[in-house]
Amino acid sequence: DLTAFRKNQLQTIVKAPSFARKTPKSRAVDKQLINLIVVGHVDAGKSTLMGHLLHDLDVIDSRTIDKFKHEAARSGKASFAYAWVLDETEEERQRGVTMDIGRTSFETKNRRIVLLDAPGHKDFISNMITGSSQADAAILVINATTGEFETGFENGGQTKEHALLLRSLGVTQLVVAVNKLDTVDWSFERYEEIRNSLTVFLTRQAGFSKTKFVPVSGITGENLAKRMNLSWYDGPCLIELIDSFVAPQPPSDGPLRIGVSDVLKVASNQIVVSGKIESGEVEKDDKVYVMPSVVSATVKECANNDGSKHCFAGDYILLTLQGVFEPDSIQTGSVVVRAGPDTLIPAKKFEVRLVVFDIATPIIKGVKTELYAHSLCVPCTFTKLIHTINKSNGEVLKQRPRFIAKGTSAVVEIETDHDIAIEPFTSCRALGRVTFRSGGHTIAAGIVERVITPQ
Ligand code: GDP
Repeated sequence: DLTAFRKNQLQTIVKAPSFARKTPKSRAVDKQLINLIVVGHVDAGKSTLMGHLLHDLDVIDSRTIDKFKHEAARSGKASFAYAWVLDETEEERQRGVTMDIGRTSFETKNRRIVLLDAPGHKDFISNMITGSSQADAAILVINATTGEFETGFENGGQTKEHALLLRSLGVTQLVVAVNKLDTVDWSFERYEEIRNSLTVFLTRQAGFSKTKFVPVSGITGENLAKRMNLSWYDGPCLIELIDSFVAPQPPSDGPLRIGVSDVLKVASNQIVVSGKIESGEVEKDDKVYVMPSVVSATVKECANNDGSKHCFAGDYILLTLQGVFEPDSIQTGSVVVRAGPDTLIPAKKFEVRLVVFDIATPIIKGVKTELYAHSLCVPCTFTKLIHTINKSNGEVLKQRPRFIAKGTSAVVEIETDHDIAIEPFTSCRALGRVTFRSGGHTIAAGIVERVITPQ
């Protein structure tokens, strides 16, 4: 709970004028940053496709690819060479599975892309959630091979689940890569068949409005970085479509939000933390506040990966803060902000719109789970089940349901034991996405719609 002092402090902070930076924005003309996730049923060819694309873009040199090809051939899995570029650990290589989200970045003509490569295996869906909870846009990879599209799309397949998940986590920009068309002789009929069934599902049920399709082959490389000669398709290739994704908002212009991911060094009146600037910009001598503790501090030093000391949204930074700190003043999951009307108000009650995963027991009022948001992980309780939602049109299905079963979308109220620093998705995407876990499984994921602020 807010102590009287913190309450006072908060009121003063909110009334302070908005921050106005005097120094010019040195990186104002920077390319827009897009966090991109690649999803799709297992073996759809996600890793191969992206590995090949990165090779075409010269992000990965031929020597590395050759090395992978050689190793892959030696272990009898020659076709996995491109995928290995993204599959980092030895264990994954042995199993031929992409287990974690490897981070690779590359540039297109107008964009800087951070690639979150998502795995398609069923037990790895929670990794995918972590990835899509950071994504601005997605590529859905579809296996066009006879019989394989059907497997991925119908019962038990992950295509629909991934698409619904993306949508419920706020991802709206989607490109569908109809892959492995080399296995069906680049058949126009097959492409159209897939495009039609997916369009119906993606627009009517999942709620995507402007999905684009592109015929590709991850193995032979057609339509990835270069347009191919096809009698029935003369549209943009995959990289051109990636280049047309738009960043959700120019977050450097937004209010300062630094999510603290690690507290590295604590001295009497100085703390060093690492974190990501989710919104805004920061530099030396800035006056900031740490939430939810509402402790004031001054930026003594900050630097991003490139050593730049004027840091912007999207940067991972090291931050040295000077102030008077208690042991719990700043922790993993704290958020560094500025004073002003657009500051972040810590709270413990939130309204969340979520989708419930494949769980055995439905969620009922009073259930306790773990809440994950940015670097934060805290216990929480489902205090109200407000209503369930029709997934295909977003309408309210039932007020005050007694339980929320698997596969259902719903709005709920949750409460944490102490104040935390999260906020509505519409204010800051990164701080407004939440997932819920219980007993080692992800049970639900969604976005914060409303913060119920303490009186
Ligand atoms: P992921 O599980 O979606 O990441 O799939 P992978 O990239 O690991 O690919 C699964 C299998 O499909 C591998 O054997 C690949 O060589 C193969 N594959 C991937 N893309 C293509 C393609 O465009 N054409 C053909 N014929 N095979 C492909």
